[in-house]
Amino acid sequence: MNKLFDRQLAKATRPQGGVDLDVLRELVVAAYDQAERDRKRTDRSLSLMIQELDQLNRKLETQVEERTAALREREAELSEQNRRFDAATNNMSQALMMFDGDHRLLICNDRYFQMYRLSPDIVKPGCTMRELLQHRAAMGVFAGDIDAYIADLDGCMARSETMDRMTELPDGRTVHVVNHPMAGGGWVATHEDVTERRRAEQRIAHMARYDALTDLPNRVLFRERLTEALAGTARGDRFAVHYLDLDRFKGVNDTLGHQFGDELLKIVAERLQCCVRETDMVARVGGDEFAVIQAGIEQPVDVAMLARRIGEAVRAPYNLAGNAAVVDTSIGIALAPTDGSEPDALLKAADLALYGAKADGRGTYRFFEAAMDRRMKERREIEIALRKALTAGEFELHYQPLVNVDDRRITCCEALLRWNHPERGMVSPADFVPVAEEIGLIVPIGDWVLRKACIDAARWPADIKVAVNLSPIQVMNQNLVPVVLGALAAAGMPARRLEIEITENVVMQNTETTMATLHRLRELGVSISMDDFGTGYSSLSNLRKFPFDKIKIDRSFVSGLPDDGDSSAIVRAIAGLAANLNMTATAEGVETQAQLDTVRALGCVEMQGYLFSKPRPLDTLMHLLEPQRPAAEAAPAGRVARIA
Ligand code: C2E
Ligand code: CA
Ligand code: CA
Repeated sequence: MNKLFDRQLAKATRPQGGVDLDVLRELVVAAYDQAERDRKRTDRSLSLMIQELDQLNRKLETQVEERTAALREREAELSEQNRRFDAATNNMSQALMMFDGDHRLLICNDRYFQMYRLSPDIVKPGCTMRELLQHRAAMGVFAGDIDAYIADLDGCMARSETMDRMTELPDGRTVHVVNHPMAGGGWVATHEDVTERRRAEQRIAHMARYDALTDLPNRVLFRERLTEALAGTARGDRFAVHYLDLDRFKGVNDTLGHQFGDELLKIVAERLQCCVRETDMVARVGGDEFAVIQAGIEQPVDVAMLARRIGEAVRAPYNLAGNAAVVDTSIGIALAPTDGSEPDALLKAADLALYGAKADGRGTYRFFEAAMDRRMKERREIEIALRKALTAGEFELHYQPLVNVDDRRITCCEALLRWNHPERGMVSPADFVPVAEEIGLIVPIGDWVLRKACIDAARWPADIKVAVNLSPIQVMNQNLVPVVLGALAAAGMPARRLEIEITENVVMQNTETTMATLHRLRELGVSISMDDFGTGYSSLSNLRKFPFDKIKIDRSFVSGLPDDGDSSAIVRAIAGLAANLNMTATAEGVETQAQLDTVRALGCVEMQGYLFSKPRPLDTLMHLLEPQRPAAEAAPAGRVARIA
């Protein structure tokens, strides 16, 4: 400023000296004007700059704010993620570890420590896989070879393969270990204790294939083994299937209770297992049904020997908490591959053989024969036809008289059922009654017999009774008394003219219901006869269980007379006992005069048999009965009732 003023002063100094003040003023004013203009220009640019700076600043500020917010958010997210990761890894049921490419531990969760009871002093980030395994081995929670394990692991990781293994720990636990390679080297390891799951799976698998009560293989496993064994027959293997069930098992269940029934089945299972070799298999295939696969047989005699051994083992008495029990068994045997090359065919053959064994009388064994299959088919046909027979009116009753041995007067006529099959002709009751019993048809058929027999007998002379055979199943039926009363009422016949024939089987059942039914019938005036005596359990004590009116001595004892000494002794004993117990002794199947003379001499008071008459239809029977009608009694010929 001072220089400027000096220059202005110089300019305003007159050459002659002295300062022209006007010039100076002008110069100064001009300088001020210029300065003012300059200032204004500078001011303008400055304010522009400030504006720009301001804008820039504001922009920067918002940018910083935005970034900070984003960063904060990211940070929060990260820490949340971290928290979750920690929570997740430490609450996992699996142990989790991460290793780097140098086998060093990066992270591991709490579960890993708990699972193997490890020390955090040793297991910590930075420790090596080998140190870790050594520590585990020292703690007794690593069973393998450390070097081999590491070599395997390295191999897998080098090939980028997951190593997945079930490992058994020395303490019995099972751990599922998975080592999964990571992209940048290293791996993630998970260890899961699957002991419980494995045990549960094993239990379920066991339950599906073993019987809960006896722990024997069940039908499923049995069939599997059968299929395997059949595959072996291609190599020339021979084996046998023994199929058995327990006779009289139901009796044990009914009289002693299911608990003892179960106990008995367990003992049977044990006994069967003692009978067989390790290569054989015993299975429980049904309630009281067992099956045995006898492997590697050379000749049928091996099979028969085992069947006999099984029979003896099962028949030996049982002691069920102080209760003695006896059961028997029938055994059906099929040989593979002769009797079947499929499991089903083989089982069916064994089952048919079992059926055959039972038909032979209980407590035996039978080999399968092709004829059994034929008989079975026939039986099934009978079953189907039998279901229609009653409504189709194919049944008929024949009558066979029972006569007094002294005067040959007819005392009673036994009703014997006949089935007039449209194609087969007359079918013997011996063939169809057992089938009807098995399929439950014996009850309606038996009811029909009772009603028809009473109606027929109502036309006979009043002193001649009618005898009706009852199956044990009918006697067990609660309905029997009302059915009998209904039949008598419908025929208008007094109860004293009806005789009921039952076999020893009925008495052997000795249940409250059957005994009550028999007593009730007897109270009503119906007589009760013991039929076929001597063929069943042949126990004289059975005669004391119920006050029978009559004992019918089975034909088998009469057929040997008069020569067979044993038979005569038996007939004499039974007749004697009958007389003592106030029962009528009747000899069945008397065919000759000599037999008649003998049974009379031995004490029988009544006889039945071809000698006097075969069973005959009602109309020809009437001819036999008419002469016995007292003159006072007129035949009610017009009153022939019809029943369905
Ligand atoms: P069962 O009660 O022992 O009947 C006597 C059987 O012996 C009859 O056979 C009869 O024909 C036969 N018979 C009679 N006298 C002689 C003889 O002198 N010699 C020979 N060899 N046999 C003789 P059937 O009629 O074949 O009956 C067989 C069995 O069928 C009967 O034996 C009986 O247990 C049963 N049955 C017959 N009808 C019925 C019925 O209505 N209901 C039930 N539940 N069973 C019946
Ligand atoms: Ca009879
Ligand atoms: Ca009989």
